[in-house]
Amino acid sequence: MKITAVKLYTMHIPLITPFKTALRTVDAIDDLIVVLETDDGQRGFGEAPPTAVITGDTIPSVAGGITQFIAPKLIGREVEKFDELHDIIDKAMVHNTTAKAAVEMAVYDLVGKRWNVPLYKLLGGAKRELETDITISVNDVDTMVRDAVTAAERGFRILKVKVGNDASLDALRLTSIKKATPAGTVIRVDANQGWTPKQAVRILNNMQDRGLDIEFVEQPVKALDFDGMKYVTERSYVPVLADESVFSPADALKIMQMGAADMVNIKLMKCAGITNALKIASAAEVYGVECMIGCMLEAKISVTAAVHLACAKSIITKIDLDGPVLCKEDPIIGGAVFNEKLISLPNEPGLGIKGIEEGKIHYID
Ligand code: MG
Repeated sequence: MKITAVKLYTMHIPLITPFKTALRTVDAIDDLIVVLETDDGQRGFGEAPPTAVITGDTIPSVAGGITQFIAPKLIGREVEKFDELHDIIDKAMVHNTTAKAAVEMAVYDLVGKRWNVPLYKLLGGAKRELETDITISVNDVDTMVRDAVTAAERGFRILKVKVGNDASLDALRLTSIKKATPAGTVIRVDANQGWTPKQAVRILNNMQDRGLDIEFVEQPVKALDFDGMKYVTERSYVPVLADESVFSPADALKIMQMGAADMVNIKLMKCAGITNALKIASAAEVYGVECMIGCMLEAKISVTAAVHLACAKSIITKIDLDGPVLCKEDPIIGGAVFNEKLISLPNEPGLGIKGIEEGKIHYID
């Protein structure tokens, strides 16, 4: 099976409610779709959600990277030689993790289709169902309580609450959500780098004293402040999960060696794809550090790739793959099934993506 064409499309999907974090506000998903075509008529699908405030990627930068640097080297290559293909994508340029992740998942999709096996099985997995949390955007207290209650009514048991854009309000936000949601609701918190190390320790220990029982806090301090994160990890009763601090397997190793966080968050768009995500998972197994799998604001193709990975690696114990349930519509045919908090994988080869509804994506020439 040889790759004969690399085609790029844009896809626009409105969100049910605007997505707000300490870093940005967005009301739609605008992603790039990668389709690899082969000489025997197969198509491998990938998706790139350009997230300028996190990965530095934009639609033109991802499209340019793929078109100029990656695609020309893939044409004519055999899908069966995966290791060679991964190496080509990895070495085509530095950074550009989103572009690499999107192309690499499309190659994995083709490898699965070539050998007629679902990706999670190819990666050694047997599980086919996951439970995801749902994100509660950072807002005024009343709006956050309303969103949390709605999420609980939709059946979500785990809420990931965005905080960090106003430290003085964060304790009130969380106590109000805790009071308004059913007993047994698990609350995890994402500060998206919004606190200083000392603020983080004060806020987190204060939350613990109030009996909020926060499951963990995600990225309390600046991404590059590994020492600051270690300071928080050592002094906070709430476990710390590194997100924006961990892009590459090397970052993950450094965090683990320093003991700078209790857990790490794997995202395909940060680490440039499934192969590097597997390396982070392996390092985590060595250090006994549990992982979360997360996503950017992504639709179903790339989140399906993350689902396959999570179903294959038992060190990934926390699932934050709510991109598709935040979307108003789903033009992707096939892939993982997102039924509110429950995600399941069909027994289809590769990612299981069969196509995209007519008129929902636009070809970039
Ligand atoms: Mg995060």
